[in-house]
Amino acid sequence: MIEKMPFTYKRSKGLISNKDIFKTKVGKLPKDFPKYPSRGWTIPKIVKIAIIFLRIGISQRKIRRMYQQEMKQPPTEIPSAPAEFWNEVREKARSLGIGILGFTEIEENFLFSDDRITHIKNFYSNCIMLGMEMEYNAMDVAPNPPASVETLRVYAALGEATIVLTQFIQEKGFRAFGTHPMEGPILLPAMAVKAKLGKIGTQGILISKEFGPRQRLSAISINISPVPESPNVLPRIVDFCEKCRLCITECPVDAIYEMPILQSDGRLTRIDADKCFPYFRKTHGCSICISVCPFHKKGPILMENIKDGL
Ligand code: SF4
Ligand code: SF4
Repeated sequence: MIEKMPFTYKRSKGLISNKDIFKTKVGKLPKDFPKYPSRGWTIPKIVKIAIIFLRIGISQRKIRRMYQQEMKQPPTEIPSAPAEFWNEVREKARSLGIGILGFTEIEENFLFSDDRITHIKNFYSNCIMLGMEMEYNAMDVAPNPPASVETLRVYAALGEATIVLTQFIQEKGFRAFGTHPMEGPILLPAMAVKAKLGKIGTQGILISKEFGPRQRLSAISINISPVPESPNVLPRIVDFCEKCRLCITECPVDAIYEMPILQSDGRLTRIDADKCFPYFRKTHGCSICISVCPFHKKGPILMENIKDGL
């Protein structure tokens, strides 16, 4: 069934990304910078990382090409989809290893206006937010190499899964394009909260009921409306964070603040990207603020207690 209505793209309302952090040179770290525990970087792990980077690069290029292709002929109508379609999407996502999935209207305040890498400017009305779990044991030893390898592995696997799910939606006759988990103009954690996948923890990461802070996110912009409502009841993570504060005390570079700060990009956040990013790059993904988080350690049990008002 086609719902006749004027077609409009969604566009950024001016959110500026903190792109300066990408200019940070790891070699310029101060002398007193915390020592990186680099034990365990064996030749097989280095080869594995090289292959993962190759996969990431291929999927990033493919996603950018798919967007360019989409924009050649903008749609003029926004179709609706039957309930079976959404069930098929959920099933397909599960088969691709996507652990959490939610639907939401695109919030233009969560779109960056200056993405010079992907050049994605126009979005359809709605999106599907996707999350893929990072394996518990690997993330538990962050910032050592198994956590870095796992973080990058999931970036690669989620990028590839995003492509396959986008193609699946297109084959069903709908317009769609994906954004890669490692780049693109969507403020992914904020949009994931809007899709009711979880809440943002003090360390600035999405905390979901399913995996705590242990997932990476991506999105598929879809020219379909309406989208299914999410029945997810979210626990009061913010209240718990106020009592916990472990990520604040355990961050090796004091990049997580007690109170939100105004970033150079105009966003209010507790994470000082200028402090975090050099260490994040040096360690190929740090993730200490994930490994120490109680929602990583005892996720589902904790969530149940919080739901009851802890
Ligand atoms: S470590 Fe504690 S304060 Fe930090 S995000 Fe997790 S629960 Fe919240
Ligand atoms: S990733 Fe590492 S450096 Fe960055 S905020 Fe988390 S613990 Fe701190």
